[in-house]
Amino acid sequence: MKYKKIFSKIAKELENTVDNGKVADYIPELLTVNPSKFGIHLTTINDKHFDFQDDDEKFSIQSISKVLSLSLAYKLEGEKLWERVGVEPSGTPFNSLIQLESDMGIPRNPLINAGALVISDILVSHLKNPKKDFIKFVRNISGISSIDYCPRIAESEKSTGFRNTALINLMKSFGNIKNDIDEVMDFYFNLCSIEMTCKELSQTFLFLATYGRSPYTKERVLSKSKSKRINAIMQLCGFYDEAGEFSFKVGLPGKSGVGGGIVAIYPNKYSIVVWSPKLNKKGNSSKGIKFLELFTTETQTSIF
Ligand code: GLN
Repeated sequence: MKYKKIFSKIAKELENTVDNGKVADYIPELLTVNPSKFGIHLTTINDKHFDFQDDDEKFSIQSISKVLSLSLAYKLEGEKLWERVGVEPSGTPFNSLIQLESDMGIPRNPLINAGALVISDILVSHLKNPKKDFIKFVRNISGISSIDYCPRIAESEKSTGFRNTALINLMKSFGNIKNDIDEVMDFYFNLCSIEMTCKELSQTFLFLATYGRSPYTKERVLSKSKSKRINAIMQLCGFYDEAGEFSFKVGLPGKSGVGGGIVAIYPNKYSIVVWSPKLNKKGNSSKGIKFLELFTTETQTSIF
């Protein structure tokens, strides 16, 4: 497949469309990014690479890290995990509080903020040095030892993290947070602050296209069944109240972050990352979604 040619063709097409998206401004540090950045990187399961434009520039992966923390927590906790977090799409924005009270502090899924906070709590319980151990896990599955947190972004988010503070306190009141709130929050903000290039991110996620086995270390990151389930959760919950729309238009499991990144998985073929910082009203990269819609249409790839 001539992926690079297809990238250029679609990028040209997108130049003629107006992008009404806006860079996330509720985390002050994210506002420092150049809104016109655009990068694409596709990694095949045979480790072939196809790149475009700003694919080698680091950006804040934000909520995309929720899939990685879920993977590690699922590996460590097993099926007991689902007693504390559901697997249903929420149909609400990523930082919504609305369902949490009637659901007695059990988040609908692990990819909204409430769910990721519970996952962070589980990891804090399991890991000896949570931040150190987690980044080691990420470096290991990607085969890239330089991947790291960005303390500047973590601090910036901490200073404005009022909704996350509300979510975690509400869940603590229902007994669904076991550790000290500040410790869990610190861990969560650091996860969101991880920086990667499109290339690094697509490499990191390749294990979900290879049924749970890391193509780099050849180690099993997750069992085949667990890897299938993570993809299923991404398919249903990866884009919050735009998950149906993404599934409808793109037809692949994926995950977005407010840094403007999106990763999508085509099992047994590739993982693809697109980065464009301007977000639509649902908090997902507007150009990123449009690109993936055109890309999967052009290449006729979909899991359906
Ligand atoms: N760190 C962000 C937050 O907690 C993550 C949100 C996102 O990327 N959708 O608000």
